Amino acid sequence: MQSGARRRGAVVAAVILAAQLAAMSVAAKPSAPRVVVSIAPVHSLVAQVMKGVGVPELMLSAKSSPHALALRPQQARMLAKAELIVWIGPAFEPGPARAVAALGEGAQHLTLARVAGVRVLGARPGGAHRHEAGDASAKKAHAKPPVGALDPHIWLDPVNAKLWLDAIALRLAEIDPAHAPRYIANAAAARAEMDLLIAELRTQLTPVRERRFVTLHDSTQYFEHRFGTHSVGSVGARASAGRVMKLAQELKRAGADCLFVEGRRPAPVATMLAREASLRIATLDPAGAKLTPGPGFYSALLRGVARSMVGCLTAAGK
Ligand SMILES: [Zn+2]
Repeated sequence: MQSGARRRGAVVAAVILAAQLAAMSVAAKPSAPRVVVSIAPVHSLVAQVMKGVGVPELMLSAKSSPHALALRPQQARMLAKAELIVWIGPAFEPGPARAVAALGEGAQHLTLARVAGVRVLGARPGGAHRHEAGDASAKKAHAKPPVGALDPHIWLDPVNAKLWLDAIALRLAEIDPAHAPRYIANAAAARAEMDLLIAELRTQLTPVRERRFVTLHDSTQYFEHRFGTHSVGSVGARASAGRVMKLAQELKRAGADCLFVEGRRPAPVATMLAREASLRIATLDPAGAKLTPGPGFYSALLRGVARSMVGCLTAAGK
């Protein structure tokens, strides 16, 4: 009898030990993988896929330029600790490119520009589509797009975003199989919402599709290709007075109605061009600088761009 009790005691001890080990391994392994995402629009998509499991970290705030060339030490540390890095790719985000390359082949990263079916567009050439940026960090990235340079504003095509949702879910399911069903289901729900958003924006934008606009910084190409709206060029914040006058004549011929700028205060070039070519000035925020990062960021960003276009172009038509 005694040996039986002892055996039972040993079994109980073994069960307790096993439970303790299990608790320790749970504590050692966080329930969600540590995911770092480069920019806010993509972070929003990852946050939608991870809903109910965890929250991804955002490397570049929506206020900093998505075209920034250098990483701050804190951002480099963030990348080094990540279990998965989700970014667009080296041609699109020069900032993290070197850091991601330095992490080596073993590091997990998902390069969204390489996802099958994603639409990648070349930067529009000079002339009426000269590409210069309004803010200082973007200026460096954009001042003279080399021949064959890509247009980095790839997140403004919601069909690209839809493809990314699936790619994100599949990669997360690989590195965190325990939550795979959740990731897949979240991605399917987000994709369905994206379809509704695309239909909503298409309906809103259809009446202004034949109107023409100009931007100070050429950020709208992907959006235009998806929704059929028409930019007739971009100005560049540092264009000379002579160039602005010449462009104004071209824009009058092209019948442009609106000039979209990004900051609160339009550059002197914008004011001059608007006056010479009789354009209304309106703001358009292609990176979501005023929005809060999170699952709802992406749809708010696209609705904001559409609202800017519809607002100015509708008023201009009156
Ligand atoms: Zn840009």
